[in-house]
Amino acid sequence: MSKTVIVTGSSKGIGAATAIMFAQKGYNVVINYNQSYESASLLCKSLTANGYSVITQKANVSNKLEVDLMVKETLYKFGTLDILVNNAGIAFQGLLTDTDEIDFDRIIDINLKGVFNCCKAVLPSMISRQAGKIINISSMWGQVGASCEVAYSAAKAGVIGLTKALAKEVAPSGITVNAIAPGLIETNMNSNLTIEELTDFVSTIPLGRMGSADEIAAAVDFLASDKADYITGQVLGINGGLVV
Ligand code: NAP
Repeated sequence: MSKTVIVTGSSKGIGAATAIMFAQKGYNVVINYNQSYESASLLCKSLTANGYSVITQKANVSNKLEVDLMVKETLYKFGTLDILVNNAGIAFQGLLTDTDEIDFDRIIDINLKGVFNCCKAVLPSMISRQAGKIINISSMWGQVGASCEVAYSAAKAGVIGLTKALAKEVAPSGITVNAIAPGLIETNMNSNLTIEELTDFVSTIPLGRMGSADEIAAAVDFLASDKADYITGQVLGINGGLVV
């Protein structure tokens, strides 16, 4: 039987590349989106037109009820849930002194509580099968902190802490939990940067370029595979050598 994966925030960017990768490998794929109904539907249509097993499911990951429903629908549709990729996230730039409480809560709610909500929703089914793989998309800023991204860095550092703690907690149930900490990846998330800002940023990256969404998807592919069965609680940096 084909394995089933939920990729949160897969209407575009890294999540979409990851959903495409899993679909092409024969997984049942749940494309989760919150706001981008059209992008999610277009991606789903193009994959199903090629014979792949894909559905879309709207859920704001910061909303427990919507996440629970997404997982329930997934289990109803495909019968099992083997892999969860917690990818949904939003960025926020600004001095801490200009970050209001609402912005801070929103960043934490989506980037960190969203991971908690999704893990909590999928674990009962994974624990009952004594198998499962959870891959959390953090950020290099969660490892080293970014000036003017305090809320985002805190949320992504939280994802790393959650990954390590949960890995220990669910290892006896045969479930692995790992994180990926991407560097500068070419997606909409960085579309607010000017050419000059991007050029300056890229000049600090030892490999001299941005990463691609496909390069993150390739790492997810590995961590979700049997080849990574003995890897848990780890943070894989994919950042062109910027953070070593
Ligand atoms: P992106 O192109 O902006 O895509 C973000 C995705 O997250 C979208 O599909 C969006 O879906 C979804 N999303 C946002 N809020 C959501 C919510 N409340 N519930 C469900 N889905 C939600 O960004 P990306 O670069 O691919 O980022 C993917 C992940 O990588 C994020 O966690 C990000 O922090 C992390 N990351 C990115 C970079 C980078 O340089 N790009 C670097 C390090 C880490 P809707 O549009 O449907 O809401």
